[in-house]
Amino acid sequence: MKELDQIRAPLYREMKKLVTDPAYLHGKDPHLCCTSKYNQMRISPLEAKSIARAFKSNPELRKRLPAVLERLEKALAGLSDNNERQSFDCPLLENRQCMVHQEGKPVGCLAWHPRQYSDPDGEYGFSSRGWAAFAARDKLNDRYQGPDWKLRVIPLWLKRVFSKQLARRAKRGGQGGPGGKEGSR
Ligand code: SF4
Repeated sequence: MKELDQIRAPLYREMKKLVTDPAYLHGKDPHLCCTSKYNQMRISPLEAKSIARAFKSNPELRKRLPAVLERLEKALAGLSDNNERQSFDCPLLENRQCMVHQEGKPVGCLAWHPRQYSDPDGEYGFSSRGWAAFAARDKLNDRYQGPDWKLRVIPLWLKRVFSKQLARRAKRGGQGGPGGKEGSR
């Protein structure tokens, strides 16, 4: 995980610098990209584990996990369990803030910027530092997960790293959890 933090560090520095530019978001909600209209962000297994680690180690986050699980169940209801890009409301968005911004934020979320700072052909895109970070992240996953790991949209990886918590919720309240046909692998 330390290695993943090292991969993310230049992206945090890049973002910190960009947000000081008043033209950066042009008055747009910074987390519009976390909602289903714009969001198809996929992450790797190590990034998902890093998010789980943040919830385990940070008592403030841990307290808010039930609300995350509730949103996660809703998001999962609209997704197929595969590795394709699909639209979703991120369960980690709370009060218009990314809950894991300080610890565990996925590489793609850190590197996604308006076009003047990233991809000149799109409205938004990944910065060049972001592409370098993706390559490093992929190598790291190869090393720790083997070559067959898959990128999946955020809720599908959260379903796996929070499978026990979702199962407990389903048992307690009868909510749809990760069971049935879409069970964890
Ligand atoms: S992890 Fe954070 S930045 Fe990424 S989509 Fe979710 S709420 Fe948004």
